[in-house]
Amino acid sequence: MSADCIFCRVAAGEIPSKIVHEDDDVVAFRDIDPKAPTHVLIIPRRHIGSVNELEDGDAGLVGRIVLVARRIADMDRRTETGYRLVMNTGNDGGQSVHHMHMHVLGGRKLGWPPG
Ligand code: AMP
Repeated sequence: MSADCIFCRVAAGEIPSKIVHEDDDVVAFRDIDPKAPTHVLIIPRRHIGSVNELEDGDAGLVGRIVLVARRIADMDRRTETGYRLVMNTGNDGGQSVHHMHMHVLGGRKLGWPPG
C-alpha cells in the first residue's frame, strides 16, 4: 500500500466509498463524480501506478479485472444495451489518479471518438 495514494486508501477502507465488489485481489466502487448512470472503478488491491507498470505475471489479475467489469455490467443490467471499459493511462490518456483502474461506464449512449 502507498500511504499517499487515494485508491490504496479506498481499498483499505480508510476513505468511504460505495463498494460494489471486493475480493482478495480487486476492489470495485462507484465513481465519486459519475460520467454515466453506471460509473464504477475497478482497482487492484496492490499498488500498480498504471498499465505501464504491469508485468507478465499480472495477466491473471488483468483478466480478473475484466471479468469483474462484466459482472458489474450484469449487476447494473447493462449487458444487453452495452457499456464501455476504459483504462486511462498517462497524461495524454487523461489519467488523474495514479493507481491503475478500469472504468465501467454504461446506461447512456457514449460518444466516439472520446474527447
Ligand atoms: P482517471 O481520470 O482515469 O484517473 O479516473 C479517476 C477517477 O477517480 C475519476 O473519474 C474520479 O471522479 C474518481 N475518483 C477520485 N477520487 C475518488 C474517490 N475517493 N472515490 C471514488 N472515485 C474517485
